[in-house]
Amino acid sequence: MSNRRPRDPNCLFCRIVAGELPSTKVAETDDLLAIRDIAPRAPTHVLILARDHIPSAADLDAADGPMLGRTFELAASIARDEGIAEAGYRIVTNVGEWGGQTVPHLHFHLMGGRSMSWPPG
Ligand code: 5GP
Ligand code: ZN
Repeated sequence: MSNRRPRDPNCLFCRIVAGELPSTKVAETDDLLAIRDIAPRAPTHVLILARDHIPSAADLDAADGPMLGRTFELAASIARDEGIAEAGYRIVTNVGEWGGQTVPHLHFHLMGGRSMSWPPG
């Protein structure tokens, strides 16, 4: 699979996935790790990281379908556990500089616990 990349020793999220840097784990699967965002922008702000080093959503293809399905399944499960499922929440992935991506390793923001505005800034 062309979009699969080996762990990048200089990548912050690869290092978190490898346990080289600390994080607050929320949930995990074989291919995903969910952690608390270090600078939460909402009462619940969880990051769902791919364990593989995939730079962004721009590098995904159809072969990633099962992993993406598990991402949204895990997000819904965490939302229920966090008590935000009923009120609603947001799942976001930023791509590139103008998309607001600051860590070039695929991750989804799960945010809730307050009302979200639209469109995002
Ligand atoms: P992006 O800006 O790429 O969409 O999202 C990166 C997110 O990672 C930001 O919300 C930022 O607060 C979070 N973040 C940056 N460094 C760390 C860290 O060392 N640990 C954790 N848990 N989150 C981080
Ligand atoms: Zn990485």
